[in-house]
Amino acid sequence: MSAQNNSKVALVTGATRGIGFETVRQLAGQGVHVLLAGRDRAKAVEAALKLQSEGLQVEAIALDVTRPDSIAAAAQEVERKHGKLDILVNNAGVLRDDMQRKPSEQSLDTWRETFDTNVFGVVATTQAFLPLLKRAPAARIVNLSSILGSIAANADPASPIYDFKIPAYNVSKSAVNAWTVQLAHELKDTAIKVNAVHPGSVKTDMNAHGDLEVADGARTSVRMALLDERGPSGGFVHFEDTLPW
Ligand code: NDP
Repeated sequence: MSAQNNSKVALVTGATRGIGFETVRQLAGQGVHVLLAGRDRAKAVEAALKLQSEGLQVEAIALDVTRPDSIAAAAQEVERKHGKLDILVNNAGVLRDDMQRKPSEQSLDTWRETFDTNVFGVVATTQAFLPLLKRAPAARIVNLSSILGSIAANADPASPIYDFKIPAYNVSKSAVNAWTVQLAHELKDTAIKVNAVHPGSVKTDMNAHGDLEVADGARTSVRMALLDERGPSGGFVHFEDTLPW
């Protein structure tokens, strides 16, 4: 399936469920041709079929952000079929911490597993797709962060998240924020915009206690994916608000 003439092409990682799946739905609803990426091809196909049955222009693609061969194959497939990429949403993420353990007690395996997906996965996927993003007239990169990654909020006793320490997860999202700033700086003289988003506390498999439904949880990613040229780059946003780093 190739994109219809002039439609933007977007790729959303970790889109088989949760916020990623809904982000695909909303972007496709705006006329974007969306590649729904999942580490398990069968699951991605099943999710894409569901959205196709709603009349949306969605295509499944296999992409495990922790596997360089999978990332390279996905980038080659997008190049072959579309020749460019307008929007990359780095949405795939994991929360592996043992909530009973303090930062000093969390196992190194947990830190590694978390960073593999949440940090190295974002860097590797972005590096692989950057040549295709540079071929689009004004590409957008959206990195799923979290207010839990805000060092300012973590360090502020007055912040509602001050006592909410999920060690490896929070620090992985701090790294995503720092990466966002670095990449935005690298691309500041181009038309590409890079932003980190906090989707809110969203009810998904990752967060059973979320207070937002996915329809609202996907809104910030979609807004930053469709940002016009007046929008920010190198920002950290939630809905219309800018968050502290
Ligand atoms: P879910 O746990 O519901 O979904 C996570 C998605 O990531 C799944 O599709 C999963 O695929 C995919 N995934 C995990 N590992 C990989 C991998 N190696 N390669 C490709 N895909 C992978 O999470 P949410 O929808 O809640 O979260 C989406 C993003 O938003 C994450 O980055 C999360 O950290 C962030 N976020 C979420 C918040 C919330 O309240 N829910 C708050 C702040 C940030 P599979 O189905 O194969 O397991």
